[in-house]
Amino acid sequence: MKPAPFVHHAPRSVEEAVGVLGQVGHDGKILAGGQSLIPILNMRLASPAHLVDINRVAGLDTVEVTDDAVRIGALVRHAQLERHDGAYAALPLLRQALVNVAHPAIRNRGTTVGSIAHADAAGEMPAILALTDGVVEATGSGGTREIAAPDFFLGALETSLAPDELATAVRFRRFPAGTATAFAESARRHGDYAMAGVAAAVTVVDGVIERATASFVSVTDVPTVLDLTEAIGGREPVDADLEAAAEAVRQHVEPEADIHASAEYRRMLAGELARRVLAQAAGQAAGQAAGQAATTKGSTSR
Ligand code: FAD
Repeated sequence: MKPAPFVHHAPRSVEEAVGVLGQVGHDGKILAGGQSLIPILNMRLASPAHLVDINRVAGLDTVEVTDDAVRIGALVRHAQLERHDGAYAALPLLRQALVNVAHPAIRNRGTTVGSIAHADAAGEMPAILALTDGVVEATGSGGTREIAAPDFFLGALETSLAPDELATAVRFRRFPAGTATAFAESARRHGDYAMAGVAAAVTVVDGVIERATASFVSVTDVPTVLDLTEAIGGREPVDADLEAAAEAVRQHVEPEADIHASAEYRRMLAGELARRVLAQAAGQAAGQAAGQAATTKGSTSR
């Protein structure tokens, strides 16, 4: 099928894009990479009268790494972020998750901010924005504002962006020293949307788990962060009670059944994936701490 007719707008600046969005209101849709929107239009699940194509807007394609965040503009493609070594060094979780987003061809065109604005519970990057305590930067006719992840995702495919607002960038916050992260998901075929996925961050201080958190793909309506510190904190990583963490995850998630898997299977899967990523992140955080201690000792003894 082909989409219903629409007017194509090609603004060159954020101000121009916001101006058009303000004029067309609910009749307009922003077009970024088109990897989610175009199939929706082709299937006529939506028929906006106006498409505001932001691909020619200058200044939205940059990745910036600062002391506390990785900030990406609205036109940064998944593949660009995946390959960005500075972003990987600052926040390895980005690449750990991005390699699971669809196939390379889709990652070459689809934008990470578009994926977050699309707010699909089966998308990897909304879960990463949540786990990193991230922020969406939005500009509309009323000006510019920042929206924290918990206030951004309202429901499946629903965000707090107003019809005249453009998400210009997102900031993924970096984790404190001593933190390691891991991501795992299970899909019927590589590149498919996951039946369940889990991202985890574990902070180890003085050999003991100080903090552990997880967020989820495909098993919650909106991205949520589960604090697992009570389940596995206060112990050395080798002694962590991963079964307690897996049980907390099984209690937390609210999966739905579909043709690929029952709700119970997804719940079980989320628990097992959580066990795996927590073990991986905790082990790596402990290894990093041990490596740093050895380096410090080595440099002081020289
Ligand atoms: P578009 O398709 O252009 O837009 C998507 C929605 O977001 C639209 O409603 C649009 O108006 C809105 N939007 C886009 N940018 C902005 C903005 N800056 N401000 C406000 N609103 C905006 N994604 C995954 O996460 N995991 C997968 O496994 C996965 N598998 C896929 C498999 C296939 C076969 C396909 C076709 C897509 C898949 N995707 C998957 C989707 C892909 O990641 C898309 O890139 C992403 O969902 C949307 O990004 P986009 O730039 O293409 O946005």
